[in-house]
Amino acid sequence: MAKIQMKTPLVEMDGDEMTRVLWQIIKDELLIPFIDLKTEYYDLGLEYRNETNDQVTFDSAEATKKYGVAVKCATITPNAARMTEYDLKEMWKSPNGTIRAALDGTVFRAPIQVKGIDPCVKNWAKPITLARHAYGDVYKNTEIKVPGAGKAELVFTAEDGTEIRKTIMDFDGPGIIQGIHNKDKSIESFARSCFNYALDTKQDLWFATKDTISKIYDHTFKDIFADIFEAEYKEKFDEAGIEYFYTLIDDAVARVMKAKGGFIWACKNYDGDVMSDMVSSACGSLAMMTSVLVSPSGVYEYEAAHGTVQRHYYKHLKGEETSTNSVATIFAWTGALRKRGEMDNIPELMEFADKLEKATLSTIESGKMTKDLALITSLENVTVLNSENFIKAIRETLENM
Ligand code: NAP
Ligand code: MG
Repeated sequence: MAKIQMKTPLVEMDGDEMTRVLWQIIKDELLIPFIDLKTEYYDLGLEYRNETNDQVTFDSAEATKKYGVAVKCATITPNAARMTEYDLKEMWKSPNGTIRAALDGTVFRAPIQVKGIDPCVKNWAKPITLARHAYGDVYKNTEIKVPGAGKAELVFTAEDGTEIRKTIMDFDGPGIIQGIHNKDKSIESFARSCFNYALDTKQDLWFATKDTISKIYDHTFKDIFADIFEAEYKEKFDEAGIEYFYTLIDDAVARVMKAKGGFIWACKNYDGDVMSDMVSSACGSLAMMTSVLVSPSGVYEYEAAHGTVQRHYYKHLKGEETSTNSVATIFAWTGALRKRGEMDNIPELMEFADKLEKATLSTIESGKMTKDLALITSLENVTVLNSENFIKAIRETLENM
């Protein structure tokens, strides 16, 4: 059979540890045999990021703006332990943070639902889609370790030289301070992406912050959402029979646990990080969730929401067998290929993406799965496969289709 031809390259961002291992197997087994895969390759593995002083991350983000679609493998965000492990020149920033800062936009994350893997929150009959603001706040912070007594101030200097100055704290001893920011423009595009996505998918939209405590910062998010909703979306929502609902973040968390699902939950950057891991774990596994960053200019970056699965990688290095779930990484590829097909008008590529997703899910439904799912499935006659054999089983299903 002739391979499916591509017109424009995908931006391919390789990553680290166990997900880097899966990345190569997915390409070899599930993509290259079927597609004349065109990618522009960026190695975001920590060693090469360190070698290039992280330039490769910035280059990959620029390439994404140029081509419009990227697919990203999970990457290590360095901490103190990684500094020694990889002999790093600097504690490089999170690549996801850098890419999101460059592209702006919103990350949409939805559980991948499959028969036999039921959410442990029994009342969640439908998926909950998380819309995570992908710019600013604690992900683009400035921090100081305060060495001792002294005054910490927040200062804004306008272009004309006028100052706004507030005291953060009169320290009587050592401590810590942090400066964070966001931009009205970014919050506005976050709001519009969420309202548009709600209309596209005909689902209610929930949004929550802590505006009672953060009377300026979080309150601005609340106000911008409310203003844009009233001015541009209220009528469209009424027509579509859907609702926009704002509440406090702690109230939202409590309500989500009792809800039936089937709505979009818009979260500020940090809340979205934490809550998407909660929702995906409750739906079975961190690896059963799709994740796509959508920029206001219509650029898409697909990834898995989980990390590099370090614990499994160390076992892999010792020659021990691993059973790492590759579903989220496969769905990152299918999302990117489908979007490339849509942009370049290649229906075969879009059909292939659909088929690969279906093959992945029916492989699980036939009882062949990785250990994380085997532990929670309601299916009987389950075969637990290792990392590689699970991907090979999907290949077999795909070929039979
Ligand atoms: P992690 O890679 O998400 O894994 C945490 C645990 O979750 C694993 O030990 C495993 O549990 C389970 N798990 C996650 N993905 C799985 C999969 N595909 N299949 C089966 N089980 C899975 O988080 P981490 O180990 O805390 O972080 C490792 C590295 O990833 C860190 O350096 C961090 O910076 C990075 N990270 C990157 C991203 C990203 O690039 N998007 C996101 C988060 C973290 P068991 O061990 O119990 O099997
Ligand atoms: Mg996370």
